[in-house]
Amino acid sequence: ELPNTISEPPKSENHAHGHLIPMVDMGRLLAQQGVTVTIFTTPLNANRFSSTINRDAESGLRIRAFTAQLPTHEVGLTDGCESMDMLPSRDLFTNLLHAMNMMQHPLEEFAVKANPRVSCIIADKNHSWIVDTSSKFKVPWVAFDGTSCYSLLCKSKIISSKVLDNVVLDSEPFEVPGMPGPLILTKSQLPDVLVTPNRRNIIEAEGLAYGVVINSFEELEGEYLRELRKVKGEKVWCVGPVSLCNKDNMDMVERGEKSSVEETECLNWLDEQQPGSVVYACLGSQSRPTVAQLIELGLGLEGSNWSFIWVIRGKNSKLEGLQRWLSEEKFESRIKGRGLLIRGWAPQLLILSHHAVGGFLTHCGWNSTLEAICAGTPMITWPLFAEQFFNEKFIVQVLKIGVRIGAEFAVKWGEEEKFGVVIRREDVMKAVNDLMNENGEGQDRRQRAEELGKMANMAVGGGSSFLNVKSFINDIKETQCLTYDSLSNS
Ligand code: UDP
Repeated sequence: ELPNTISEPPKSENHAHGHLIPMVDMGRLLAQQGVTVTIFTTPLNANRFSSTINRDAESGLRIRAFTAQLPTHEVGLTDGCESMDMLPSRDLFTNLLHAMNMMQHPLEEFAVKANPRVSCIIADKNHSWIVDTSSKFKVPWVAFDGTSCYSLLCKSKIISSKVLDNVVLDSEPFEVPGMPGPLILTKSQLPDVLVTPNRRNIIEAEGLAYGVVINSFEELEGEYLRELRKVKGEKVWCVGPVSLCNKDNMDMVERGEKSSVEETECLNWLDEQQPGSVVYACLGSQSRPTVAQLIELGLGLEGSNWSFIWVIRGKNSKLEGLQRWLSEEKFESRIKGRGLLIRGWAPQLLILSHHAVGGFLTHCGWNSTLEAICAGTPMITWPLFAEQFFNEKFIVQVLKIGVRIGAEFAVKWGEEEKFGVVIRREDVMKAVNDLMNENGEGQDRRQRAEELGKMANMAVGGGSSFLNVKSFINDIKETQCLTYDSLSNS
């Protein structure tokens, strides 16, 4: 049963960029290998990458978008209300999921007519109805949801071991059994999907996928990949970091949104800074910290005495308070020459690849994490929700290329005001100084990050990930031949 609906015009500009961006990159990566790729999405999302794929198509890649409107009005939502944070209330999330499930019909209509015929569906695990479509059309469904082997393995071990059955308190530390190294977490750090029983079907659906493509590379996650194969079988292909498919034309690629700052202005500013002296602070595309929390972050960056770029999600009415504070405090003139504020969307890949950037204060979204790794940049970790606490453990404990800011629990969507200020300016200053200071530990961290960056670039440029893309395509070709044969025989 659907909760009551409220008809309010959609306001927000935040979307599931963390899913959309790597999915589009993944499409381009496959098209670069000669595969015909159709990206099935809504018109609103398609607009976010249309110029990039139109340019690809003009240069001969067989890639296009096929769009179908999300039937929001049929579930009582306003037209265009296409992402979680556009919902007037959290209760309406079920309605949105319902509308997403209704996309099965237009996808199947497309599949009936598609020429060349569809031979594989790569889809986010959140669309669990794909299982049904893939069996109807006798094509493999391959899951791709943009997380790491480490996260997938954590989730799988937490579920299969039933460890949560014995955890009483949300703040009680427990060890995840069966991980290659020790991993202690609390329930309040886990993604919703693990603690909300009615969302477990998403994880169960993933178990039915023919295989999994992962935005990661073997050299980064070897041990975890081996363990994951024990759970998911051999059909696990690490094909990333997929963002590197943009390497040769980074300044021209539309990623998610149009940048809110002139890219040349941003690059000129970075050119004026000392190499390795700038902290880039950006908490991803979906986080919604309170104004009070953002003020603490700003004061912490200012107090650290390092140069910084601070990305503030803009236009949201909630941020008007921050805007007022910034002008009352004359914050921007106080930090002139040493700090750059970007209100809205930052050209993240460009910034991270600039030699002046020496550290990334991140919410540990997997895309941001990998983008930092590609650039060889160590991180300050401030996980907020979803798999971000897993990613923090991976960055700090396994890879040893990060410093924790000290976040202890996930701030649930819609409950930001309840939590208020979680991280104080002193925490920010300490983490920035720990990361940026070139003492022995800091140097080791930076060196490890740089080595991983080189490995990432090698993996995509002819190494393991490049070969895995080819072997994935060959595998699909072979299964499809088998299906054809068995069909013609029967
Ligand atoms: N991103 C960007 N500019 C911004 C914020 C984010 O280009 O101002 C991109 C970033 O490069 C990454 C994606 O948006 O590719 C965010 O994905 P991630 O998994 O890091 O986090 P999410 O936003 O999904 O929480």
